[in-house]
Amino acid sequence: MRLKIAVLAGDGIGPEVTHEAVSILKAVAELGGHDFTFTPALIGGVAITAHGSPLPTATLDIALDSDAVLLGAVGDNKFNALTPDKRPEAGLLQIRQALGGYANLRPSIAYKALSGSSPLRPEVTADVDILFVRELLGGLYFGAPRWWNRETNEAINTMRYTRDEVVRVARVAFELAAKRRKKVTSVDKANVLEVSQLWRATVTEVAKDYPSVTLEHQLVDSMAMHIMNIPRNFDVVLTENLFGDILSDEAGVITGSLGMLPSATIGGAVNLYEPVHGSAPDIAGTGKANPLGAILTAAMVLRHSANLEQDARAVEQAVNKVLDAGYRTADIARGSSQTVTTQEMGKLVHQALVEDIDRRQSMHAV
Ligand code: NAD
Repeated sequence: MRLKIAVLAGDGIGPEVTHEAVSILKAVAELGGHDFTFTPALIGGVAITAHGSPLPTATLDIALDSDAVLLGAVGDNKFNALTPDKRPEAGLLQIRQALGGYANLRPSIAYKALSGSSPLRPEVTADVDILFVRELLGGLYFGAPRWWNRETNEAINTMRYTRDEVVRVARVAFELAAKRRKKVTSVDKANVLEVSQLWRATVTEVAKDYPSVTLEHQLVDSMAMHIMNIPRNFDVVLTENLFGDILSDEAGVITGSLGMLPSATIGGAVNLYEPVHGSAPDIAGTGKANPLGAILTAAMVLRHSANLEQDARAVEQAVNKVLDAGYRTADIARGSSQTVTTQEMGKLVHQALVEDIDRRQSMHAV
């Protein structure tokens, strides 16, 4: 398997956590005989410092010439005085747009060993494994007209979807559900919004092509409640842009820390992979950053860009094993757990992964 990966580590803790994610991908490549290449490029504040732009043309070229882009995080307080279009965060928006992914995947998994880290009771979070599929290029964030008339004190945004935009993201959700627990929950506000009525009718139509997958519809307001009350009832949750933005953040509390959350954006020219957290300037350089979100993001690279499902699972299991053994970075440390640094956590997962792959290979050899 050949895979060209552009590595855009970015600012703050971005390079620290990305280093650990890359070392996991290198281990998978080495042990499995795969040809993964890693090309570093600048984005965010470091790119402004070096080239005067948060997304230099050279970075965009490298990204578009790769099979997957692995991004750390962007953001640096020293650029706060710049206008939004010149700040590090603009690089992120520009690259997302340039790569064109329309399906944003955000898993929300409750790790048994971390059940005390979530504000939700352990019996509520037990066995939760939700995958959000959020439409990323349409809806209220992009619809026109949009304006703010400061004289009349009136403003408008437009929630707009075409049938084709709904079909393509719904297909992603059903394909993924077919490989998981075979249930799609589609979220809308069809009791009030015409755009949601189109969404619901279209998703219902797409579902006919996936008879093995059960489809249920939920209104977004009651869904916000159900996610907190009975999160284990959900498998794949399909949402439009705004609803998915809110609900996936809400479901993030199930895991217990922002540092645990991975994401992938697929469907465009090149898939984009990034942990959900930002550059965390408050802990950059202290060794306190949790690299597990970035490492789980590496697992998503293996699953969605390399088609190496078994290796993706092996990485996820290695994370589980290390957490079960009681190792924690500061953000998830509780009671008798052993607190480790970013690098130590990366090494522990690496070690658990190598042991697992070695065991698998020797079983094959027998
Ligand atoms: P943040 O995600 O960087 O940090 C929020 C809080 O969570 C902080 O207390 C931080 O220490 C903690 N945290 C985040 N990631 C962690 C990790 N891996 N391990 C342990 N603790 C972690 O959000 P913020 O503080 O609002 O933003 C800081 C900068 O990051 C800003 O410039 C912002 O614009 C940018 N940002 C970037 C992205 C991105 O690159 N995708 C996302 C969000 C924010």
